[in-house]
Amino acid sequence: MNLSAVQVTAIIPAAGRGHRAGGGENKLLLPLAGCPLLVHTLRAFENCGAVGVVVVVVHPEDQKRLSAWPQTYRLGKIRRFVTGGPKRQDSVRCGLESMDWECEVVVVHDGARPLVRPELIARTVEVAAREGSAVAAVPVTDTIKWSEDGRQVERTLDREKLWAVQTPQTFQHALLRAAHAQAAADGYQGTDEAALVEHLGQPVVLVPGDRSNLKITTAEDFAIATTFLQSSAQPWDIHKLDRSISRVGAGYDLHRFVPGRELWLGGVLIPHNQGLLGHSDADALLHAICDALLGALGAGDIGHHFPDTDPAFQGIPSVVLLERVGRWVVDRGYAIGNLDATVLAEQPRLAPYLEAMRVRIAAALCCSPDQVNIKATTCEGLGAIGAGEGLAAQALVSLVRMSEV
Ligand code: MG
Repeated sequence: MNLSAVQVTAIIPAAGRGHRAGGGENKLLLPLAGCPLLVHTLRAFENCGAVGVVVVVVHPEDQKRLSAWPQTYRLGKIRRFVTGGPKRQDSVRCGLESMDWECEVVVVHDGARPLVRPELIARTVEVAAREGSAVAAVPVTDTIKWSEDGRQVERTLDREKLWAVQTPQTFQHALLRAAHAQAAADGYQGTDEAALVEHLGQPVVLVPGDRSNLKITTAEDFAIATTFLQSSAQPWDIHKLDRSISRVGAGYDLHRFVPGRELWLGGVLIPHNQGLLGHSDADALLHAICDALLGALGAGDIGHHFPDTDPAFQGIPSVVLLERVGRWVVDRGYAIGNLDATVLAEQPRLAPYLEAMRVRIAAALCCSPDQVNIKATTCEGLGAIGAGEGLAAQALVSLVRMSEV
């Protein structure tokens, strides 16, 4: 079959809620190396010449947020967002049913595999066009034991014949439709598309996948993927920045010292005989940073977004607010350029804690600690801060527009 890209549609199931990675929201929307995880996945398809059209299957709660992405992240191949079903299989079927255009080959790829290379996608398209199906897989390197009760081993499986299957899983359109129809008719549930084609009694062809094509499930996987993305200089890397388009913002905050409260600064608990008075944990440094970020976005100030009259923010760790503001930054297509802040305090001595603050703030904003600088100074005994009545913080931040590669 001689294919042009317009005859190839990719369906990206991204409707799961994925609570395993922590965070309590769709893990695919969490930041990874400067932009939402799912954007990396979509970017790989944008950069794959073999695919012409992309359908993203989403949860209804996420639909509004994602609808801005084609423009924000310049994802021109997205034809539509489709509401998914309760299981992955339902979601892929919803994607298939939404396709009212001509298509010869369908690529199904997990939204949670952001490290997929465009070359691997193209390889599966080429093989599926010729042979009907093509499923990315890698040989199993661990020895696999069989146990019925999870305690005692009954036997050892022959590793030579075992394959760990990934996505992309690519099929001729008619074959995948037939496999879904048969599964629906039989009430058959498979954990991947290949299982449905096997159920139909049709051959499934393996093509060599990549060990780096990880499925991001746990918080640990995020750390591995971040390291991978930051160390790779791949041409499809979203982390390329257009330094000609940047924005800056400034923030300032002041809180009064009172006895009987903990002292939180920069997301770090600092031993002291008094703490700062406030509705949240009163972390003046993080408040100044939030205000600087909001200022750079042109999005008002912290009091507007997290009012101190709202009981939801009573006693809340300010690092939660910072993480939230950090997500707005990536949602709007920006990444942190750098951030510089100063704490003005007579007491306590802050030098021993500055590095911990820097690391904490960088983690909350999903950037590198070398993009963050935290300083402290006294007021030489002058004024209210000099008299130890409170402390203040100021912050300056630059944001850089993430650009098309
Ligand atoms: Mg404040």
